Amino acid sequence: MNRLVIRGARLLGAHAADLLVEDGIITDVGSVSAPADAEVLDADGLVALPGLVDLHVHLREPGREDAETIATGSAAAAAGGFTAVFAMANTSPVTDTAEAAERVLDLGRACGLTEVVPVGAVTKGLEGAELAELGLMARSRARVRVFSDDGHCVHDARIMRRALEYVKPFGGVISQHAQDPRLAGREACCHEGEVSGRLGLPGWPGIAEESIVARDVMLARHTGSRVHVAHVSTAGTVEVIRWAKAQGIDVTAEVTPHHLALTTDLLLGYDPVYKVNPPLRPTEDVEALRAGLADGTIDAVATDHAPHARHDKEHAFVDAAFGMLGLETALSVVSEVMVRPGLLGWADVARVMSSAPARIGGLAHQGRELAIGSPAHITLVDPDREVTVDAAASRSRSRNNPWHGHTLRGAVLATVHRGRVTHDVRNDAGTRRELTNATTSGADL
Ligand SMILES: [Zn+2]
Repeated sequence: MNRLVIRGARLLGAHAADLLVEDGIITDVGSVSAPADAEVLDADGLVALPGLVDLHVHLREPGREDAETIATGSAAAAAGGFTAVFAMANTSPVTDTAEAAERVLDLGRACGLTEVVPVGAVTKGLEGAELAELGLMARSRARVRVFSDDGHCVHDARIMRRALEYVKPFGGVISQHAQDPRLAGREACCHEGEVSGRLGLPGWPGIAEESIVARDVMLARHTGSRVHVAHVSTAGTVEVIRWAKAQGIDVTAEVTPHHLALTTDLLLGYDPVYKVNPPLRPTEDVEALRAGLADGTIDAVATDHAPHARHDKEHAFVDAAFGMLGLETALSVVSEVMVRPGLLGWADVARVMSSAPARIGGLAHQGRELAIGSPAHITLVDPDREVTVDAAASRSRSRNNPWHGHTLRGAVLATVHRGRVTHDVRNDAGTRRELTNATTSGADL
């Protein structure tokens, strides 16, 4: 039997307790005397959270293994405290078949550092024209429940309506990248406003997001199905979602750490590290996003971790790829901008970074209470530790890290996935070698 004792962690930041984990399950909570063969993690003063769950990452495998692989992305996830990540479908080939989804699942299990959950494409090849094999993906070993054309908007209202109808019987959800292509085309790369005018960059107005979200919540109401809004970026979108929830419409939403913290004026230096889709917005939007996350209008934090090779990112601003890294810094950014100002407590962080995304994504074994009988997915956080982010030290294969050089307070110290320590800062400053080649089989805990 595999035994682990976590000593003296403050559960959700409240009272301290020991946790006994046996064969991947929490079997005792309270004052535990460690069995002789148990591995012991000293967590005195640390906050214990259920393992973090990320509804939105790009792992680039298959197709762009020069930017990230499922192995390097899994290592970055473990270092960031994540025990499950949803891998977006915009790989090459696209995850639009059962076979493609099962391959992502299997590659994730072979790494064994975090649960890699494939997201299925809504339309074949992300082309927006014809529905992908949603039912076959749902019935596959990968049990796909989240579908998204992320990177592209499902802009055709008829396709969106049919996708919502199709996933309803098996409890699926459509995660929408809301960007009306007529209001914000592929070239739009900067929030439309004063900064885009000064820089002469093509503008991406907030209404391009808000109009799609308004349409989609009405389609969700009409079909009685479930829609999820990816990376909410404007105050107007928060208002639409707040209204829709008040009507009882089945809508959920996520916000990224970068949209909670960074503003559009960072673009004044033309540094492509800040180029992201949707774009960074003005302070008024950032404040509305923080308030929306604090009051529950926005359900979850998701990173939109988007690694890019240097030769795709280090270009003139208009030509550079969209996206930034996020897995390793997410908890620290949320700690800095939401916990320290008192907008969220640690129990709220457990909700927005673990239990809510697990529920939205249909993962019954993730985001569970730290209690007897729960699978042992646990993240240990030092709320007072200051970290200065060093892009070169990332486990990701890419370096497009907007937090390089920033000092953030609050950091993940250790991660336990399926009862095994997948990351421990104090032990070896990295991922444990023996786990890199570990194989896991059977159903995920
Ligand atoms: Zn997107």
